[in-house]
This record gives sequence, structure tokens and C-alpha cells, in this order.
Amino acid sequence: MTVRLHDTMAGATRELVPLEPGHVRIYTCGPTVYSTAHVGNFRAFIFGDLLVRYLRFRAYQVTWVMNVTDVDDRIIKGAHRENVTIFELSEKYRKLLVADMETLGIHMPDVMPKATDNIPQMVELIEALLEKGHAYRTDDGSIFFRISSWPDYGRLARIDPQGMRVGERVEADEYGKDDVRDFALWKGPKPDEPSWDTAVGPGRPGWHIECSAMSMRYLGQSFDIHTGGIDLIFPHHTDEIAQSEAATGKKFVNYWLHNAFLQLGSQKMAKSLGNIERVADIVARGVPRRALRLALMSAHYRAPLSFGEDSIQAATSAIERLDALFAALTAYRTDGPDDSALPQLLEETRAGIEAALDDDLNVSPALAAMFELVRELNRRLDARTLSTADAARATGFLRDLDRIFGIAPAGEPALPAELQKLLDERSTAREARDWAASDRLRTVLAEHGILVEDTRDGQRWRRDD
Ligand code: AMP
Ligand code: ZN
Repeated sequence: MTVRLHDTMAGATRELVPLEPGHVRIYTCGPTVYSTAHVGNFRAFIFGDLLVRYLRFRAYQVTWVMNVTDVDDRIIKGAHRENVTIFELSEKYRKLLVADMETLGIHMPDVMPKATDNIPQMVELIEALLEKGHAYRTDDGSIFFRISSWPDYGRLARIDPQGMRVGERVEADEYGKDDVRDFALWKGPKPDEPSWDTAVGPGRPGWHIECSAMSMRYLGQSFDIHTGGIDLIFPHHTDEIAQSEAATGKKFVNYWLHNAFLQLGSQKMAKSLGNIERVADIVARGVPRRALRLALMSAHYRAPLSFGEDSIQAATSAIERLDALFAALTAYRTDGPDDSALPQLLEETRAGIEAALDDDLNVSPALAAMFELVRELNRRLDARTLSTADAARATGFLRDLDRIFGIAPAGEPALPAELQKLLDERSTAREARDWAASDRLRTVLAEHGILVEDTRDGQRWRRDD
């Protein structure tokens, strides 16, 4: 079986054939760090994370780059709003972004370049475009890409460049360009705006050139997969393709993957609509962070995901079921023989999950297969048909699967010595039937974030997260 992915350019699902066998190079359009990212943004990043995790699970080497846009119109406005430099503003929100990514269990990309660290690379591209006649200067020191010089323009978004009109989707706020459809590669200096002195003159980059320069710097002029939300198909990705291919003469990207929106009700979650929710706020009101991750991951990336209390509730109880199973498997002891049907059950589960995810990352049936296994293992624990070794085998299997999903409880945790001592004391108290001491120790442990439960196999504990 091979991995197949829906490529927006082809309008079809295609087998993944990396340019370098066994090695997949992926670029994800990261956030503009002008304020705290919302869970809608994180849907896009969790989709990238799931893709990367799954390809690694399928034994591909993956190089994942996700940029941070730290200079553009929104950054400049934000810096004015908070009365700080663009560097102070973007560093503040970049740190919050990384903290939220950690909260959500997103594996850190191999590189998270900042646009402002890549200005020379952007300038090089712009120089190549000027040289080849695909770009021109205007009186204010700006440089525009000439769309009429690139007949292929608009293929990704299925736009006919001849028919393109000025509208809300075309930047019409810049004057002096030859053609209203053209987009800015470089913006001439303005008072109150940051400016770099470069070989193409003073000013700052346009947003689109940033992603072309950063992706090609770290992944090469041609690479495998580029991801982002569907709102980026036009103009952002459309412009990235035109300027990259016009500059290098090579195919820029082989697979374009776009995630649908996270919605509240029937509306896209967006800062401009004022309906955003933030990771830190959701976690602060008691939603377990792994439940939030699961809720953001649980719909196919190309389907709208409706977010709300229902989805959080469902994810929370799924995580509780998973945690309870891990705890039960860890505590399970029996003298009985191995369950001869277990290897097949695990193998079938793995095959079902791979078949679903190979099919354009179809996560819903994959998760359903995993939770069906959770039910099946619980049944076998209750019937005590597993051996002690089977329980360890099942735990190992679930941990391995969790390289994809990232929702399992933390591994065999080493408790701080003083808490382990309390647990041991409680165990001794229970053996002595000293229920008062046992209850008191349970309370003390709870105060330290350790929840203790008594089972047929003795006491079990988990972190209260
Ligand atoms: P931005 O910081 O606005 O450039 O957005 C960063 C990423 O988040 C882009 O890939 C957007 O497409 C994506 N995005 C923004 N809002 C949503 C949403 N409501 N649902 C899914 N993705 C979103
Ligand atoms: Zn981008």
C-alpha cells in the first residue's frame, strides 16, 4: 500500500512519490505572529503535524519546515497598536505560539524560519525576477510581479488570468503598478514602517515572496508537499508558484494540500469575525490538552470541522477511556496463558489504521479503529483472558500507534521520590485496612496532581492533566 494525497493542483488524489526516494520535504505556511494564534490556526498546524507524524510512522524520513511571518502589514499594525518594535511584537507572539504547540503535542518542525532572517534570500529571488523580465519597479521603490509575463498564472486556484478583475481578492490598494492584477514582491520604504537596505533598494518584502524564499532555502527549488488553509490557495499560494517557477524555471511543489476551516456554527473562526478561541484559555477552563488536540484532529482535513462544547466533550471522554485502559493494562497481573487471538487483533487494527490514513489521511476511520481496539482490550481485561505479557504487548502497540496520534497519556512516569513514598505508604495503609490513612494520603496526592484509584489489581494513579 502507498500513501495517497489530494493535490489541489491536480484536483485529484495522487500517490505520494517523493522527489528523493524515502525522504519527504514539507513546507507549512505558519502564522503571522501579530497576536495569539486561535484554534482555527492550530487546525492547520495539527494537520501538518499529523501528516508529518504519519509519514514518519510509514518509515519516511521527513523534513518539515513551518515559517513564522514576522513582517507584513498585520505585524506593522500590531506593533503600532502595542507601541513596540515589530521584533518585540513578533518575538512575544512567537513564544506563545511555541508554547501552544507544545500544549497541543505538535512535534516541533525541523526548522521554523522567521521571515526577517531571510531577507537576502528574498532579494536574490526578486533580482532573478527583475533580470528575467517578470518584475518591474515603480516610482515609490516597490517591485511588482508582472502577471502578464506568466501565462500559467492562476492554475492552482483555477483562475483565468485574462478574466481576473479587481475585487476584494485582488490587492487594489497599491497605486503605480502597470496592471492592477500584479502583486508586490517588495514594498518601497514608508515613514513608520521597518525598512531594510538591500541590493534591490530600501523597503520590506511582500508576504508571498517570504514563503517562496524560506521554503526553497530549506527544502530546495523543488520539493514535495506544501500545506496551508484553503484561504491561502489564492492569492498566497498562487503567487508563490508564479514567482518561484518564474525565478528558477523549475516546478516548485509536487503536492498542494489544503485544510478546510475550523468553524463555530456555520462561520469560519477568524480574528476579523471576533469569534476566536485560544488554546491557553480553553485549557485554563479545564479541558485536558490531549482532548483539545483530539478535537482539532478528529475530522478529515478537507472537511469543515465544527468546534464547540459537543466536540470537546466527546474528545474528553475518549481521552478518559484511553487513559483508563492504559492504567488498567499497566496494573494487570494474572497467571493465565497468552491470548492466542491477540496478535491478529493488533495486526488487523494496524492494517485498518494504515489503510485509512494512506487514503488521503482519512483520520476518522483510523481513530474509530483505534477506539474499537480500546473497547476490545477492555472486554478482554474484564474477562481476564489476556496474560500479563499480553497486557504489556497491547500497551507497547498502543504506544507505537501514538507516534501518529499523540493522544496517549505520558509514558511510564517517574514520580518524584516524595510522591512515590506517599503512594507506597498508602499501599501499606490499605494492606493494614487503615482506610482513614489511605483516604488522607489520597487527598494529599490529589493536591499534588496525582489521582489515585483502587482496583482489583491494587492502586493505580494518573496525573490530573
Ligand atoms: P494566518 O496567521 O492568518 O496567516 O494563518 C495561519 C494558518 O492558519 C493558515 O494556513 C490559515 O489558512 C489557517 N487558518 C486560519 N483560520 C483558520 C480556520 N478557521 N480554520 C482552519 N485554518 C485556519
Ligand atoms: Zn505562506
